[in-house]
Amino acid sequence: MGSESAFNGKGACPACEYVGYPEELIRGGCAIEIILWLCFLIPGLIYSIWRRSSPSKVCPKCQSVMIPIQSPRGQKISKQSATGDEADLMRVIDRLREKESEDDKPQSERKAGGWGR
Ligand SMILES: [Zn+2]
Repeated sequence: MGSESAFNGKGACPACEYVGYPEELIRGGCAIEIILWLCFLIPGLIYSIWRRSSPSKVCPKCQSVMIPIQSPRGQKISKQSATGDEADLMRVIDRLREKESEDDKPQSERKAGGWGR
């Protein structure tokens, strides 16, 4: 019961594609809960269960309800954002490597080294 919407750890936001830890949003108020507990035990119990049954995990960026990262849609969103970052990183690394190899072997020295001796 409620295992689909409740999740631990990271989540994915379908609205802004944010991937990370969601903020927990507990419905209702603490005061109502306490009053119900003091006056009527059973309604208080039911109210407590209702409040904690499916806490909404919301995106810290846009306050949209986040989905579990383990879900197919969450996986898709996390993959999309991950591949974007990785592609950028690889491009930067490639550029650095190219620069390094150029620095290691200056063209003038390569000519002076003389292969045709
Ligand atoms: Zn969001």
